[in-house]
Amino acid sequence: MTRTITLADGRNLEVECLSCAITSGLIEPTGGVIAETKYFHVHQDVAYPIPGLVILASKRHFYCMDELTIEERLEYIELIYRIREAQRKILGIEKVYYFYNEDTTHHFHLWLVPRYEWMYEFGKSVESLRPVLLHARNNLNNKDNMKRVIDAITNLREELRGIETEF
Ligand SMILES: [Zn+2]
Repeated sequence: MTRTITLADGRNLEVECLSCAITSGLIEPTGGVIAETKYFHVHQDVAYPIPGLVILASKRHFYCMDELTIEERLEYIELIYRIREAQRKILGIEKVYYFYNEDTTHHFHLWLVPRYEWMYEFGKSVESLRPVLLHARNNLNNKDNMKRVIDAITNLREELRGIETEF
């Protein structure tokens, strides 16, 4: 089943699995690839212009945590650690929400959603996530903020450079 995806830059695309489309290079994510390893792909969320909102997606098409191979598991936790470390060091992000669900239309991917001051007006924890993302999509899609997003991607890429050789 195909669905239409709206990218942060306004493009609409019809894809079967967005994660497959991005990790295979069919879709160039906004700002380009942040990092790529043997089993995973790191990129900015293509739909929501929030600096440092990173998606860690598997390259293999599957949905559930208990489908990870032992090699993927080891890479996964190390990558989460390294991305989080870079978010703090490069972007000064003090708290991150991690979101992942198995009944998604695109395959295995973890959202690392930074918490910024402005987000707290939408509350805390999981119920604030949707309003925060919609606010970003509807109100932060401007030139100044997109520059911050692209700068964050560039700086994270620089910080994670060479990570693929560490596994
Ligand atoms: Zn897929």
